[in-house]
Amino acid sequence: MPSSMIQVHDKRFEIFISKEKINERIAEIGREISKDYLGLNPLFIGVLNGSFIFASDLFRCLSIEAEISFIKLASYKGMSSNGDVITAIGLDENINQRHIIITEDIVDTGKTLSSFLPELLQRNPASVKIASFLSKPEARQYNVEPDYIGFEIPNKFVIGYGLDYDRLGRNLPDLYVTSSVSSEVP
Ligand code: 5GP
Repeated sequence: MPSSMIQVHDKRFEIFISKEKINERIAEIGREISKDYLGLNPLFIGVLNGSFIFASDLFRCLSIEAEISFIKLASYKGMSSNGDVITAIGLDENINQRHIIITEDIVDTGKTLSSFLPELLQRNPASVKIASFLSKPEARQYNVEPDYIGFEIPNKFVIGYGLDYDRLGRNLPDLYVTSSVSSEVP
């Protein structure tokens, strides 16, 4: 197996975006947000588990006053006909008239965020924007687009930099994608 490849559970992955490129891009987004939110003391809301690394790296790249808090999204079977209801656990902050920046690991179909945004908007924030480390535009099924995007990627499964495959791989500093090379272990 080449050194740029790794095995996690039953699958092989290859390097897709290096940690150097990731750090560079996150510093850029940090500068952009610092410019856009100067004097507004935005509240970052990190969505656990996947965004914990992105949120903390981005937060350290800010040169303005800002606050951060983390939530977990839990889905449960609701009474609605269109499936599960997603609700936020740990959103204790008073967000009335606050400028909110949600940090996500990846926006895929957009289902998670589109179900959570109405709950957030009900609490009367001054503004809500989304910063997502990754976005898969080809996979989008719901009308939600991140305002700040680390990288747009094709519709493939990725791990590393906070993202997992069945709980493993979150600690990898680079981003990996499922390898086209056979994942059969000889
Ligand atoms: P959505 O609701 O936008 O379809 O999916 C968002 C969630 O799906 C993400 O927060 C993430 O947990 C998971 N997800 C989507 N694509 C990937 C991927 O390529 N890799 C990993 N590890 N998780 C993904």
